[in-house]
Amino acid sequence: EQINDEDLIDQSELSCGNGGIVFLAKHKFLNVNIVKKLIHLEVRPAIRNQILRELTVLHECNSPYIVGFYGAYTCEGEIKICMEYMDGGSLDLVLRKVNRIPENILAKITESVLMGLEYLKECHGLIHKNLKPSNILLNSNGQVKLSDIEINNELKDKAQRVSSQFKSYLSPEKLETNLNSSKCDVWSLGLILVEMATGKYPFSLEEELSIFEILENIINKPVPSLPSSEFSIEFIQFIDMCLNKDPQQRPDLNTLLNHSFILNYKYQNNEFLAKWIHNIK
Ligand code: ADP
Ligand code: MG
Repeated sequence: EQINDEDLIDQSELSCGNGGIVFLAKHKFLNVNIVKKLIHLEVRPAIRNQILRELTVLHECNSPYIVGFYGAYTCEGEIKICMEYMDGGSLDLVLRKVNRIPENILAKITESVLMGLEYLKECHGLIHKNLKPSNILLNSNGQVKLSDIEINNELKDKAQRVSSQFKSYLSPEKLETNLNSSKCDVWSLGLILVEMATGKYPFSLEEELSIFEILENIINKPVPSLPSSEFSIEFIQFIDMCLNKDPQQRPDLNTLLNHSFILNYKYQNNEFLAKWIHNIK
């Protein structure tokens, strides 16, 4: 029961970058919404098949914190990836609507992101490697899920060239040494939180910088932090820990899940987040 292009009816375009188009589609028989992502790749069929094989690991990633994977196939020279539709959109879109996301909401989102990262690591030995606002998705049930786990290098290069052209969530050590660990994801999370809490991506505040200047800032500039007048001590400390430039000093996922920033907001449930998502629509 492989998913088949003929069984999908395109409904609307969710997004169109220069690297790929994302469609909302409906399955002919199953009557469910499906997101279909087209990736144009100039690679030999052998490589394309290799990528498809690597993507099948996503079939095993079943978690309430990971966007569901329905299958991938090649069609007219493109790779098409089918996944669960998240009707609350991605964090970058949400931020555009609300300008800033309140701390209690961010605590709930953070908890889900950490649970998703922990699941990938513990159950599949995977690092996300591509954590950014557009890959954190929300739905009207108040769930928060991760998408676009970086399984394959060919896909990665495309994605990074295309999307966050004037923002980067890569950690200093990844930029300098290409060293990968789940500590890189922790850095990305910290940076995303600063942006969501203040409404601004912190490494390009002054003016329009090129991506090269931004990468240089990530390596050389002091790390951003939140103003103490507007946020709780716990939140400020949580972000300071995530944004430690030394990956060895940066906390692991479990430590962060047990931090008081997360524990203080534990009493809020999915319904609480669902209500918030509903109200911004
Ligand atoms: P990027 O994440 O690099 O911005 P993508 O092609 O992965 O580019 O996604 C483009 C946009 O499509 C995202 O910003 C998001 O708003 C939307 N999108 C992607 N996947 C989904 C999904 N499963 N459900 C809803 N919206 C999605
Ligand atoms: Mg994405």
